Amino acid sequence: MMNDSQNLLFEEAKPRSVPVLVPMPVDRPFTYAVPDGVEVEPGSIVQVPLGPRKVIGVVWDGETDQVDAKKLKAISEVFDCPPLTQSMRKFIDWIANYTISPPGLVARMALRAPAAFDPEPKIPALRNTGQMPERLTDARRRVLEHSSDGMAWSKSGLAHAAGVTPSVIDGLTKQGVFETIMLPAPPVVAKPDPEYSRAELSDEQMSGADDLVEIISEEGFHSVLLDGVTGSGKTEVYFEAIAKVLERGQQVLILLPEIALTASFLKRFEDRFGAPPGEWHSDVAPKNRERVWRQVIDGQVRVVAGARSALFLPFENLGLIVVDEEHDPAYKQQDRVFYHARDMAVVRARLNDIPVILASATPSLETHVNAEQGRYERIVLSKRFSDAALPDLSLVDLRKTPPKRGGFISPILIDAVRKTLEREEQALMFLNRRGYAPLTLCRVCGHRFQCPNCSTWLVEHRFRGQIQCHHCGYHERVHESCPECGTFDHLVACGPGVERIAEEMDQHFPDARVIVLSSDMMGGSKRLRLELDAIAKGEADIIIGTQLVAKGHNFPLMTLVGVVDADLGLSNGDPRAAERTYQLLSQVTGRAGRTGRKSSGLIQTYQPQHPVMQALVSGDGDLFYERETIERERANLPPFGRLASIIISANNRPEAEAHGKALRSAAPQGSPFSLLGPADAPLALVRGRHRMRLLIHGPKGADIQKYIRQMFETGPKERGSLRIQIDIDPQSFL
Ligand code: ADP
Ligand code: ZN
Repeated sequence: MMNDSQNLLFEEAKPRSVPVLVPMPVDRPFTYAVPDGVEVEPGSIVQVPLGPRKVIGVVWDGETDQVDAKKLKAISEVFDCPPLTQSMRKFIDWIANYTISPPGLVARMALRAPAAFDPEPKIPALRNTGQMPERLTDARRRVLEHSSDGMAWSKSGLAHAAGVTPSVIDGLTKQGVFETIMLPAPPVVAKPDPEYSRAELSDEQMSGADDLVEIISEEGFHSVLLDGVTGSGKTEVYFEAIAKVLERGQQVLILLPEIALTASFLKRFEDRFGAPPGEWHSDVAPKNRERVWRQVIDGQVRVVAGARSALFLPFENLGLIVVDEEHDPAYKQQDRVFYHARDMAVVRARLNDIPVILASATPSLETHVNAEQGRYERIVLSKRFSDAALPDLSLVDLRKTPPKRGGFISPILIDAVRKTLEREEQALMFLNRRGYAPLTLCRVCGHRFQCPNCSTWLVEHRFRGQIQCHHCGYHERVHESCPECGTFDHLVACGPGVERIAEEMDQHFPDARVIVLSSDMMGGSKRLRLELDAIAKGEADIIIGTQLVAKGHNFPLMTLVGVVDADLGLSNGDPRAAERTYQLLSQVTGRAGRTGRKSSGLIQTYQPQHPVMQALVSGDGDLFYERETIERERANLPPFGRLASIIISANNRPEAEAHGKALRSAAPQGSPFSLLGPADAPLALVRGRHRMRLLIHGPKGADIQKYIRQMFETGPKERGSLRIQIDIDPQSFL
């Protein structure tokens, strides 16, 4: 046995080694030697050899594995970059643990900016030294006048300002009139000014903002629900909280569910703070993203607005997170690491010991219950801003006033559109279905066009002349004859998509300007932005759109919203079907009447008695939440119980099923969880892979991760074509 001091000596003789987490699907950090003279600390971003390659990694916390010193490889480079903070490292470990994902995969989400680990290159600039040139010309005199302030100028900037060619400046530089200095790269966005232009708040907004600022001024973690009807000005109210945090010198993260929303949001932010926030989502060019990443970790970018992946930005000194439209399903990531950005935002806030604001007109039931039970604070805005009134909502009972043959819009809604157009206002027709028709069949033999790779119908897109699969992208030209029986001209489109509604509107209103908006629009997000601008300016009369138009936009002339098929999402076996429908339809009808004009919403349904429809027209959201809460509690569903889903997929069904059964028999006995399946997933075939599902259901307090881990530890390992996806708190049940 060695005593302590011997032990210490022994330690010192060994090469220094540290754990390094590499951004790959690895379960734990690897051990690397730290070369003499190199300094690292937990969080340092380094480069390490891994097999034949060099990869980046992060020096991690905890003990290193016992590795034979001779086999130990050394860190090859330490980047000149601030380390990931301890709270960030904890956050990565936390998510890995919660979602049962390899920590390396989670770390990868935080390190998606490979060129940002080196400092940004400095930029050359010219500064007047005071030296006079040998000979003065007019041009030279102008240059001297402009540059005599001693400020740093770019060559082209100075040439432009003085109205001379760059060669004039080169000549002066040669004579020692200018020296070249290196300046740090300019910030990606200017510093927001909390005092720049404060909106005049209504009384209700003011008291909401005061309460919010008071809550976030207290030290530590707070979770606040900002619950305000559409158009109540939630953004203006949380801007005051942001101003407060900026005054404290801290950084702010704002999460938005939809990229299409960011453009108008950036503008609003700039109007309030004099500079836009940093932008982070998949549409931002990689070079700009890298600059944002670097300036976030340097503390230079103060506010970032972005999609869910912005949650993994390495803030130096984060002071507040805002999750706008917190109920939005787009916050759930459903591949690789299955995480919910709203839930993880709350986790990150707790680990950083800072406040988080969840804003919504229709909070998720989870958040609603948290607020009811006092775990979250709540601020309510019950009125629309200024003279804007909420739209009058009513139901169109399709059993009593059905559409004309071949159509999908009831005469009542057609009439309302006509009156809207007569007043030179805009109408929105909402249908959450892309394309022309969701199903095509042959009237002679009954053949249905199905995707060869997926268990789905092929959706007709008439503008493109294609039938396509919305899961794998498979497509064919539209057929003229049935591939099964060969009969010509007997293929029929069943059911409507947005394109078909556009056709129907064209027939009724041939002179109206009709725009179709959906996520598969040609021209992508740039085109979408242009179209949204055009609508806001009144350059369209009828807008037909999917859920893309439901979110956040302000269209001043829009006074009528028609919901084509309110029942669409109600019967899909999802425990959140009612909640989702309520949220989506509240939001979409909330597009109407945002600037004071009288407005209305007409909701077409075959189920006018359904609680969702009743809640919508009565405006009594509380009643709906109360009922939904009781239902969920009775069924022990989230947030009162816990769910996890395990999707087992393989190239053939027997392989997937056998694996599912083996996992099932490996599940711990005597636990409070019940295990359903393996059964064919509702989407049983996707991209040629057969999918089986295990569903785990149990009480809230029990450790569902532990249960699943045990199952995988004792169960069979993945072989061959098998793939496993674990989804804790699933939002999708396909
Ligand atoms: P919400 O997010 O609650 O639906 P918004 O924050 O988008 O509402 O506000 C709705 C509209 O009202 C926006 O066009 C916004 O600019 C305007 N608005 C809200 N509050 C004010 C205010 N205090 N002063 C000026 N305009 C406001
Ligand atoms: Zn397919």
